[in-house]
Amino acid sequence: MTALRANAAVLAKRLAPARLKCVVKANAYGHGIDIIARGLFAAGWHDFCVATINEALRLRETLGETATITAWLYGPGTDLDAAVAAGIELGVSTVDSLDRLRAAAHRTNTTARIHLKVDTGLGRNGLAPADWALALEHLQDLAAETGSAAPTPELEIVGIMSHYAVADEPERIETGQQTQMFTDAHRELTAVLDGAEGRLGDLERLEVHIANSPAALTLSPFPGTAARVGLSLYGLSPLEDQNSQDLGLVPVMRLVSQVVNLKDVPSGHGASYGLTFTAAADTRFALVPGGYGDGIARTASNKAEVSIRGTRYPVVGRIAMDQMIVEVGAGEVAIGDEVVIFGPGGPSAAEWGAWADTINYEIVTRISDRVDRVEVQTQPNDRPGL
Ligand SMILES: *Cc1c(COP(=O)(O)O)cnc(C)c1O
Repeated sequence: MTALRANAAVLAKRLAPARLKCVVKANAYGHGIDIIARGLFAAGWHDFCVATINEALRLRETLGETATITAWLYGPGTDLDAAVAAGIELGVSTVDSLDRLRAAAHRTNTTARIHLKVDTGLGRNGLAPADWALALEHLQDLAAETGSAAPTPELEIVGIMSHYAVADEPERIETGQQTQMFTDAHRELTAVLDGAEGRLGDLERLEVHIANSPAALTLSPFPGTAARVGLSLYGLSPLEDQNSQDLGLVPVMRLVSQVVNLKDVPSGHGASYGLTFTAAADTRFALVPGGYGDGIARTASNKAEVSIRGTRYPVVGRIAMDQMIVEVGAGEVAIGDEVVIFGPGGPSAAEWGAWADTINYEIVTRISDRVDRVEVQTQPNDRPGL
């Protein structure tokens, strides 16, 4: 928890005056959403983002009414009433969802708070240019219908958002192009909100957010009034050429197991299913619980390393559903020893990403429910952890 709070403070300082929105989707990138969200909330961070409405509703139950929660991924069949009633702020990526959200607000007798999402080049969610224009027209009509009465009760535009495609590659020109397109969209929305004289939302309080972790760590001047930060909150680097330490961050997840069996094996002995590894000399195998059933990547078989008593040893043979074999040779290892699979004191999630042909994002996020999440408070000179 110490690491998490320190990372949030480092990131917030870097972003100021823009605000930190904590992204806790996908079980807080595998860290355990309840522990993470409660920890951040208690430390004074009250603004959270998730992808789906189910995640948002669950988070609302965990954190209560005072947390700001934003979600942006839902389909034509998703029931929006519960989200609107629970005060979840929703991203809007289709013209049609404006009407659906109005209807949901009407039925639940509340206001739908929305972030208009512009697709500035990622090609994923968000209103593409033609739909963006339609959405603005639609909103103008709405404001006109409402006349000069009270603010439109059903919809309140609280933000404009977009998402970068290549912010982790600072030399690429597309990021600047996306920022430009976002700035143009922001200007157009400002004109519409201005014309609506408060009936569509308060222009002064409009949140403007396009940055993710890599953008938050690299872009200057910083675009927007807030950033949606996920990965680097957990102390991991989204950048190829800088690690956590370079960025002043501390990895939050430390995945540990223990040695549960040790055996001397002769030269030529195989290891695990398929016998894809054969001992080149007499050696010693340590058996370590932890496998793909726990979310540990099988593609890292015969490549990964783990740490025992501060020494790195190779994972030999295929990583199975529940366990893996580590060749400890003549190393000083005893049954019961702690094994650091990744995190402080062991290999990094980024190294596992390289071994498994993926990225550190996936390495932490895929850790399954079978693994206990234990919250650790660390002292300044102690090993960092959750
Ligand atoms: C996941 C996600 C983020 C956070 O990205 P990080 O690189 O982990 O900081 C921000 N915005 C959107 C739309 C996302 O899907």
